[in-house]
Amino acid sequence: MMQKIVNFVQDIYNTKEFISLHEPRFIGNEKKYLNECIDSTFVSSVGKFVDEFEKKIAEFTGVKYAVATTNGTSALHISLLLAGVQNGDEVITQPLTFIATCNAISYCNAQPVFVDVDLDTLGLSPSSLEKFLNENCEVKENRCVNRITGKIVKACVPMHTFGHPCRIDEIKDICDKWHIVLVEDAAESLGSYYKGRHTGTFGKLAAISFNGNKIITSGGGGCIITNDEELAKKAKHMTTTAKVPHRWEYTHDMIGYNYRLPNINAALLVAQLEQLEVFLQNKRELAKEYEGFFADLTDIEFIKEPQDSRSNYWLHAVSLKDRAHRDAFLKFTNENGVMTRPIWTLMNRLEMFKECQCTDISNSVYLEDRIVNIPSSVRI
Ligand SMILES: *Cc1c(COP(=O)(O)O)cnc(C)c1O
Repeated sequence: MMQKIVNFVQDIYNTKEFISLHEPRFIGNEKKYLNECIDSTFVSSVGKFVDEFEKKIAEFTGVKYAVATTNGTSALHISLLLAGVQNGDEVITQPLTFIATCNAISYCNAQPVFVDVDLDTLGLSPSSLEKFLNENCEVKENRCVNRITGKIVKACVPMHTFGHPCRIDEIKDICDKWHIVLVEDAAESLGSYYKGRHTGTFGKLAAISFNGNKIITSGGGGCIITNDEELAKKAKHMTTTAKVPHRWEYTHDMIGYNYRLPNINAALLVAQLEQLEVFLQNKRELAKEYEGFFADLTDIEFIKEPQDSRSNYWLHAVSLKDRAHRDAFLKFTNENGVMTRPIWTLMNRLEMFKECQCTDISNSVYLEDRIVNIPSSVRI
């Protein structure tokens, strides 16, 4: 079976050379805009590409405001600060996520609390969230207090794993009821929709990443999206060293961050954004081919987009029978020229987050033992 899979991947990518998990594609105006940017000399903290990108990504996702940042992690960090997360607060998230989610929470001197994911979406489970809140928390003076720790549960950060949307509308309702601010980690889900609405537009704020392995890339980059004008203004201010606008004076009114996306990265990103629809369609076709192929195999299952959603299929994934099969699959494919990668080690197992409060996370454990990513690059 494993050889059959390797052959299939080589066929669809039409090569016998090593096939990596996800490569960027620069097939549009990338070089043109980069040259334009260099010729203008505005490669750094000022320039038209940042503004253009922010306008276009806001349009694409259907929000009023976007603020470009140095990466997805910094976008998450600022989003959490703007959500009001403070020293000693708690932030609910899923144990099955990339480390950046928990790092950003930690940068605010807050602590993650882990609730389980749903098996079909791979993202935060509304029922697990509700169960945790009912059993541990109470609302006092419009704040959600964790009775076990005495701390305030300030925010909740669900993540749309591999681009597959989680049940974000239900999560939003629960957060509203419990006075918890919803911040979406939409780092992986640009071009993914839940019930027709772009992911990242349900929460007060959301972070998107444009790292080299994401669906479009600026080399490194990210952005915050929001419909709240006040928050958007603050996000811009905080990510640009909190400089008070003036033609020559340098004055700053708080401790800000140097999180602004350089114009040269934005130039690359504007060109990449022009390609997004093509990439999305290409990945959908690939998903269809994988789905058909894996339907005929036993003990391995292709992960399809969940109900009510349209996934960007950023990273394709399969589920193996158990951990032993997973390990054998990883070994065989990686040794035979097809790169595959297991899903992340659960956050609650990492030294830094071992002491964090954690609900029953059996779905996360189940998926950790079985999920593997397979080559997902756009085919040209
Ligand atoms: C990529 C990613 C991030 C962070 O993005 P960077 O741009 O690499 O900082 C955050 N969360 C998730 C889930 C990601 O996959």
